[in-house]
Amino acid sequence: MGHTKLQTTIAGSLPKPAWLSEPLKLWAPWRLEGEALDEGKRDAVRLALRDQETAGIDIVSDGEQTRRHFVTTFIEHLEGVDLRQRKTMRIRDRYDAEVPVVTGPVLRKNPVYVNDARFLRSETACQVKFTLPGPLTMVDTLFDDYYRSREKLTWEFAKILNQEAREIAAAGVDVIQFDEPAFNVFFDEVRDFGVQALERAAEGLACKTAVHICYGYGIKQNTDWKEALGSEWRQYEKTFPLLQASKIDQVSLECHNSKVPIALIELLKGKDVLVGAIDVTTNQIETPEEVAATIRKALAFVAPEKLYPCTNCGMVPLARGVALGKLKALAAGAAIARRELQES
Ligand SMILES: [Zn+2]
Repeated sequence: MGHTKLQTTIAGSLPKPAWLSEPLKLWAPWRLEGEALDEGKRDAVRLALRDQETAGIDIVSDGEQTRRHFVTTFIEHLEGVDLRQRKTMRIRDRYDAEVPVVTGPVLRKNPVYVNDARFLRSETACQVKFTLPGPLTMVDTLFDDYYRSREKLTWEFAKILNQEAREIAAAGVDVIQFDEPAFNVFFDEVRDFGVQALERAAEGLACKTAVHICYGYGIKQNTDWKEALGSEWRQYEKTFPLLQASKIDQVSLECHNSKVPIALIELLKGKDVLVGAIDVTTNQIETPEEVAATIRKALAFVAPEKLYPCTNCGMVPLARGVALGKLKALAAGAAIARRELQES
Protein backbone atom coordinates (compact mmCIF):
# COMPACT_ATOMS: atom_id res chain seq x y z
CA MET A 1 0.00 0.00 0.00
CA GLY A 2 1.04 3.62 0.42
CA HIS A 3 4.09 5.12 2.06
CA THR A 4 4.31 5.32 5.84
CA LYS A 5 7.06 7.93 5.84
CA LEU A 6 7.27 11.29 4.03
CA GLN A 7 3.80 11.03 2.54
CA THR A 8 3.39 13.78 -0.03
CA THR A 9 0.42 16.13 -0.30
CA ILE A 10 -0.40 19.60 -1.65
CA ALA A 11 -1.59 22.77 0.07
CA GLY A 12 -4.83 22.62 -1.92
CA SER A 13 -5.41 24.34 -5.23
CA LEU A 14 -4.22 23.48 -8.74
CA PRO A 15 -4.63 25.42 -12.01
CA LYS A 16 -7.95 24.97 -13.82
CA PRO A 17 -8.26 23.85 -17.46
CA ALA A 18 -8.57 26.74 -19.94
CA TRP A 19 -12.06 25.63 -20.96
CA LEU A 20 -13.26 26.07 -17.36
CA SER A 21 -11.76 29.48 -16.54
CA GLU A 22 -9.11 31.85 -17.85
CA PRO A 23 -5.66 30.46 -17.06
CA LEU A 24 -2.89 32.22 -15.10
CA LYS A 25 -5.42 34.40 -13.34
CA LEU A 26 -6.51 34.46 -9.71
CA TRP A 27 -10.29 34.44 -9.13
CA ALA A 28 -10.98 34.16 -12.87
CA PRO A 29 -14.69 33.93 -13.76
CA TRP A 30 -16.15 30.68 -15.10
CA ARG A 31 -16.27 30.11 -18.85
CA LEU A 32 -19.27 27.75 -18.62
CA GLU A 33 -22.78 28.09 -17.22
CA GLY A 34 -25.53 25.97 -15.68
CA GLU A 35 -25.30 22.22 -16.18
CA ALA A 36 -22.27 22.57 -18.45
CA LEU A 37 -20.47 24.32 -15.59
CA ASP A 38 -21.36 21.57 -13.10
CA GLU A 39 -20.16 18.93 -15.52
CA GLY A 40 -17.03 20.93 -16.34
CA LYS A 41 -16.13 21.22 -12.66
CA ARG A 42 -16.46 17.45 -12.19
CA ASP A 43 -14.31 16.78 -15.26
CA ALA A 44 -11.69 19.22 -13.95
CA VAL A 45 -11.64 17.42 -10.58
CA ARG A 46 -11.01 14.12 -12.38
CA LEU A 47 -8.08 15.68 -14.27
CA ALA A 48 -6.64 17.23 -11.09
CA LEU A 49 -6.82 13.83 -9.39
CA ARG A 50 -5.25 12.10 -12.37
CA ASP A 51 -2.34 14.60 -12.40
CA GLN A 52 -1.66 14.06 -8.70
CA GLU A 53 -1.92 10.27 -8.97
CA THR A 54 0.33 10.13 -12.03
CA ALA A 55 2.91 12.32 -10.28
CA GLY A 56 2.81 10.01 -7.25
CA ILE A 57 1.24 12.30 -4.63
CA ASP A 58 0.04 10.26 -1.62
CA ILE A 59 -2.74 12.44 -0.16
CA VAL A 60 -4.64 14.12 -2.98
CA SER A 61 -7.17 16.99 -3.15
CA ASP A 62 -9.74 18.14 -5.69
CA GLY A 63 -7.38 20.98 -6.61
CA GLU A 64 -10.21 23.33 -5.58
CA GLN A 65 -11.55 23.04 -9.12
CA THR A 66 -15.12 23.83 -8.01
CA ARG A 67 -14.37 27.25 -6.48
CA ARG A 68 -13.51 30.62 -7.90
CA HIS A 69 -11.98 31.87 -4.66
CA PHE A 70 -10.87 29.87 -1.63
CA VAL A 71 -12.78 32.09 0.80
CA THR A 72 -15.49 34.10 -0.93
CA THR A 73 -17.03 31.11 -2.75
CA PHE A 74 -17.82 29.63 0.69
CA ILE A 75 -19.12 32.91 2.11
CA GLU A 76 -21.40 33.46 -0.89
CA HIS A 77 -23.30 30.25 -0.04
CA LEU A 78 -24.33 31.50 3.41
CA GLU A 79 -27.47 33.33 4.54
CA GLY A 80 -26.86 36.87 5.78
CA VAL A 81 -24.58 37.68 2.87
CA ASP A 82 -25.83 40.10 0.21
CA LEU A 83 -24.73 38.74 -3.16
CA ARG A 84 -25.67 41.91 -5.06
CA GLN A 85 -23.41 44.07 -2.92
CA ARG A 86 -19.64 44.02 -3.27
CA LYS A 87 -17.29 46.27 -1.40
CA THR A 88 -13.64 46.94 -1.92
CA MET A 89 -11.67 45.95 1.16
CA ARG A 90 -8.05 45.82 2.15
CA ILE A 91 -7.16 42.16 2.70
CA ARG A 92 -4.54 41.19 5.29
CA ASP A 93 -3.40 44.84 5.31
CA ARG A 94 -1.90 44.19 1.87
CA TYR A 95 -4.18 44.37 -1.16
CA ASP A 96 -7.66 45.46 -2.19
CA ALA A 97 -10.29 42.98 -3.31
CA GLU A 98 -13.99 43.02 -4.12
CA VAL A 99 -15.58 41.14 -1.26
CA PRO A 100 -19.06 40.01 -0.18
CA VAL A 101 -21.01 42.09 2.36
CA VAL A 102 -22.53 40.64 5.56
CA THR A 103 -25.89 42.32 6.10
CA GLY A 104 -27.58 40.00 8.63
CA PRO A 105 -27.03 36.94 10.85
CA VAL A 106 -24.80 34.45 9.01
CA LEU A 107 -26.28 30.96 8.70
CA ARG A 108 -25.55 27.82 6.74
CA LYS A 109 -28.97 26.73 5.48
CA ASN A 110 -27.57 24.18 3.03
CA PRO A 111 -24.33 22.21 2.66
CA VAL A 112 -21.75 24.13 0.62
CA TYR A 113 -19.08 21.64 -0.51
CA VAL A 114 -20.43 18.34 0.86
CA ASN A 115 -21.39 16.98 -2.58
CA ASP A 116 -17.95 18.00 -3.89
CA ALA A 117 -16.36 16.04 -1.04
CA ARG A 118 -18.47 12.95 -1.84
CA PHE A 119 -17.49 13.21 -5.50
CA LEU A 120 -13.80 13.55 -4.61
CA ARG A 121 -14.03 10.48 -2.35
CA SER A 122 -15.72 8.44 -5.08
CA GLU A 123 -13.18 9.29 -7.79
CA THR A 124 -9.91 8.03 -6.23
CA ALA A 125 -8.55 5.20 -4.12
CA CYS A 126 -5.90 7.52 -2.59
CA GLN A 127 -6.20 9.24 0.76
CA VAL A 128 -8.01 12.55 0.23
CA LYS A 129 -7.76 15.96 1.80
CA PHE A 130 -10.48 18.59 1.67
CA THR A 131 -9.74 22.28 2.25
CA LEU A 132 -11.93 24.92 3.86
CA PRO A 133 -11.20 28.55 4.72
CA GLY A 134 -10.36 29.20 8.38
CA PRO A 135 -12.71 31.39 10.47
CA LEU A 136 -10.31 34.34 10.95
CA THR A 137 -9.35 34.44 7.29
CA MET A 138 -13.07 34.46 6.37
CA VAL A 139 -13.64 37.50 8.58
CA ASP A 140 -10.72 39.23 6.90
CA THR A 141 -12.17 38.60 3.43
CA LEU A 142 -15.53 40.39 3.65
CA PHE A 143 -17.19 43.64 4.59
CA ASP A 144 -19.10 43.26 7.86
CA ASP A 145 -22.07 45.60 7.94
CA TYR A 146 -23.92 43.65 10.68
CA TYR A 147 -21.85 42.25 13.58
CA ARG A 148 -19.19 44.96 13.40
CA SER A 149 -17.01 42.78 15.61
CA ARG A 150 -14.28 40.62 14.13
CA GLU A 151 -14.30 38.37 17.19
CA LYS A 152 -18.07 37.79 17.16
CA LEU A 153 -18.09 37.01 13.45
CA THR A 154 -15.07 34.69 13.81
CA TRP A 155 -17.04 32.59 16.32
CA GLU A 156 -20.12 32.54 14.06
CA PHE A 157 -18.01 31.28 11.17
CA ALA A 158 -16.31 28.69 13.40
CA LYS A 159 -19.75 27.26 14.23
CA ILE A 160 -20.78 27.20 10.55
CA LEU A 161 -17.48 25.66 9.43
CA ASN A 162 -17.90 22.92 12.01
CA GLN A 163 -21.35 22.03 10.63
CA GLU A 164 -19.88 21.83 7.13
CA ALA A 165 -16.72 19.98 8.23
CA ARG A 166 -18.70 17.29 10.12
CA GLU A 167 -20.63 16.44 6.95
CA ILE A 168 -17.46 16.50 4.83
CA ALA A 169 -15.74 14.16 7.30
CA ALA A 170 -18.76 11.85 7.14
CA ALA A 171 -18.26 11.69 3.36
CA GLY A 172 -15.08 9.75 4.10
CA VAL A 173 -12.27 12.26 3.61
CA ASP A 174 -9.02 11.56 5.48
CA VAL A 175 -7.99 15.15 6.27
CA ILE A 176 -9.83 18.45 6.53
CA GLN A 177 -7.54 21.47 6.26
CA PHE A 178 -8.47 25.00 7.27
CA ASP A 179 -6.59 27.74 5.41
CA GLU A 180 -5.57 30.54 7.76
CA PRO A 181 -3.13 32.90 6.00
CA ALA A 182 -4.54 35.59 8.31
CA PHE A 183 -2.69 33.79 11.15
CA ASN A 184 0.53 35.22 9.70
CA VAL A 185 -0.70 38.80 10.13
CA PHE A 186 -3.13 39.33 13.01
CA PHE A 187 -1.11 37.90 15.91
CA ASP A 188 -3.16 39.47 18.73
CA GLU A 189 -6.39 38.02 17.33
CA VAL A 190 -4.74 34.64 16.81
CA ARG A 191 -3.74 34.62 20.48
CA ASP A 192 -6.98 36.04 21.86
CA PHE A 193 -9.51 33.95 19.93
CA GLY A 194 -8.19 32.77 16.53
CA VAL A 195 -6.75 29.41 17.61
CA GLN A 196 -9.74 28.68 19.86
CA ALA A 197 -12.12 29.45 17.00
CA LEU A 198 -10.11 27.15 14.74
CA GLU A 199 -10.46 24.36 17.33
CA ARG A 200 -14.19 25.03 17.43
CA ALA A 201 -14.35 24.65 13.63
CA ALA A 202 -12.46 21.34 13.91
CA GLU A 203 -14.41 20.00 16.93
CA GLY A 204 -15.48 16.35 16.90
CA LEU A 205 -14.30 15.55 13.37
CA ALA A 206 -13.86 11.87 12.46
CA CYS A 207 -10.72 12.61 10.40
CA LYS A 208 -7.38 14.34 10.76
CA THR A 209 -7.44 18.13 11.01
CA ALA A 210 -4.91 20.54 9.54
CA VAL A 211 -4.24 24.25 9.36
CA HIS A 212 -2.35 25.92 6.48
CA ILE A 213 -0.48 29.17 7.19
CA CYS A 214 1.54 30.73 4.40
CA TYR A 215 2.98 33.88 2.86
CA GLY A 216 0.61 33.73 -0.10
CA TYR A 217 0.58 33.37 -3.87
CA GLY A 218 3.21 35.05 -6.03
CA ILE A 219 1.18 38.23 -6.67
CA LYS A 220 3.04 41.54 -6.45
CA GLN A 221 1.33 42.68 -3.21
CA ASN A 222 2.57 39.53 -1.47
CA THR A 223 6.10 39.64 -2.86
CA ASP A 224 6.38 43.34 -1.85
CA TRP A 225 5.20 42.40 1.65
CA LYS A 226 7.76 39.60 1.85
CA GLU A 227 10.50 42.05 0.83
CA ALA A 228 9.51 44.20 3.82
CA LEU A 229 9.75 41.29 6.28
CA GLY A 230 13.54 41.39 6.45
CA SER A 231 16.17 38.68 6.31
CA GLU A 232 14.43 36.23 8.66
CA TRP A 233 10.69 35.53 8.64
CA ARG A 234 9.80 34.75 12.26
CA GLN A 235 5.98 35.13 12.07
CA TYR A 236 5.52 31.40 12.81
CA GLU A 237 7.32 31.85 16.11
CA LYS A 238 4.19 33.55 17.48
CA THR A 239 1.60 31.07 16.21
CA PHE A 240 3.34 27.68 16.41
CA PRO A 241 3.44 27.44 20.24
CA LEU A 242 -0.32 28.15 20.31
CA LEU A 243 -0.97 25.52 17.64
CA GLN A 244 1.33 23.05 19.37
CA ALA A 245 -0.90 23.33 22.45
CA SER A 246 -4.08 23.03 20.35
CA LYS A 247 -6.07 19.97 19.24
CA ILE A 248 -5.23 20.51 15.54
CA ASP A 249 -3.29 17.47 14.20
CA GLN A 250 -1.30 18.96 11.32
CA VAL A 251 0.31 22.29 10.41
CA SER A 252 1.10 23.20 6.78
CA LEU A 253 3.80 25.83 6.38
CA GLU A 254 5.92 27.61 3.79
CA CYS A 255 9.58 26.66 3.63
CA HIS A 256 11.43 26.20 0.27
CA ASN A 257 12.86 29.49 -1.12
CA SER A 258 11.45 31.38 1.86
CA LYS A 259 13.29 33.09 4.70
CA VAL A 260 11.54 31.02 7.36
CA PRO A 261 14.20 29.64 9.75
CA ILE A 262 13.67 25.88 9.54
CA ALA A 263 14.33 25.45 13.28
CA LEU A 264 10.96 27.10 14.01
CA ILE A 265 9.23 23.81 13.20
CA GLU A 266 10.63 22.45 16.44
CA LEU A 267 7.93 24.60 18.10
CA LEU A 268 5.37 22.14 16.65
CA LYS A 269 6.72 19.11 18.53
CA GLY A 270 4.23 16.24 18.44
CA LYS A 271 2.27 17.59 15.46
CA ASP A 272 2.32 16.39 11.86
CA VAL A 273 4.26 18.97 9.86
CA LEU A 274 3.48 19.66 6.19
CA VAL A 275 6.71 21.21 4.96
CA GLY A 276 6.50 23.40 1.87
CA ALA A 277 9.16 22.02 -0.47
CA ILE A 278 7.73 23.63 -3.63
CA ASP A 279 7.79 27.38 -4.30
CA VAL A 280 4.50 28.52 -5.85
CA THR A 281 5.72 32.02 -6.73
CA THR A 282 8.02 30.97 -9.57
CA ASN A 283 7.60 29.08 -12.84
CA GLN A 284 10.92 27.40 -12.33
CA ILE A 285 10.33 23.72 -11.57
CA GLU A 286 12.31 22.44 -8.61
CA THR A 287 14.64 19.51 -9.19
CA PRO A 288 13.94 16.37 -7.13
CA GLU A 289 17.31 16.98 -5.46
CA GLU A 290 16.23 20.49 -4.33
CA VAL A 291 13.04 19.02 -2.86
CA ALA A 292 15.06 16.32 -1.09
CA ALA A 293 17.39 18.98 0.35
CA THR A 294 14.45 20.83 1.95
CA ILE A 295 13.11 17.54 3.35
CA ARG A 296 16.53 16.65 4.81
CA LYS A 297 16.66 19.98 6.65
CA ALA A 298 13.20 19.39 8.13
CA LEU A 299 14.09 15.80 9.13
CA ALA A 300 16.47 17.28 11.70
CA PHE A 301 13.37 18.40 13.64
CA VAL A 302 10.49 16.08 12.65
CA ALA A 303 10.25 12.27 12.54
CA PRO A 304 9.69 10.94 8.99
CA GLU A 305 6.30 9.48 9.98
CA LYS A 306 5.19 13.00 10.95
CA LEU A 307 6.76 14.86 8.05
CA TYR A 308 4.65 15.45 4.94
CA PRO A 309 6.44 17.05 1.96
CA CYS A 310 3.99 19.60 0.52
CA THR A 311 3.73 22.77 -1.58
CA ASN A 312 4.25 26.21 0.01
CA CYS A 313 0.74 27.30 -0.96
CA GLY A 314 -1.88 26.72 -3.66
CA MET A 315 -0.77 26.46 -7.30
CA VAL A 316 -3.93 27.89 -8.92
CA PRO A 317 -2.23 30.87 -10.65
CA LEU A 318 0.47 28.74 -12.33
CA ALA A 319 0.44 27.23 -15.83
CA ARG A 320 -0.83 23.63 -15.77
CA GLY A 321 2.41 22.24 -17.18
CA VAL A 322 4.42 24.02 -14.51
CA ALA A 323 2.15 22.76 -11.73
CA LEU A 324 2.37 19.18 -13.04
CA GLY A 325 6.17 19.45 -13.19
CA LYS A 326 6.21 20.65 -9.60
CA LEU A 327 3.95 17.78 -8.48
CA LYS A 328 6.35 15.28 -10.07
CA ALA A 329 9.38 16.98 -8.49
CA LEU A 330 7.69 16.85 -5.08
CA ALA A 331 7.04 13.11 -5.32
CA ALA A 332 10.48 12.37 -6.78
CA GLY A 333 12.23 14.43 -4.08
CA ALA A 334 10.34 12.60 -1.33
CA ALA A 335 11.34 9.29 -2.93
CA ILE A 336 15.03 10.28 -2.76
CA ALA A 337 14.71 11.21 0.92
CA ARG A 338 12.82 7.97 1.68
CA ARG A 339 15.57 5.87 0.08
CA GLU A 340 18.18 7.64 2.19
CA LEU A 341 16.22 6.85 5.35
CA GLN A 342 16.16 3.16 4.51
CA GLU A 343 19.89 3.13 3.84
CA SER A 344 20.89 4.88 7.05
ZN1 LIG B 1 -1.35 29.41 1.20
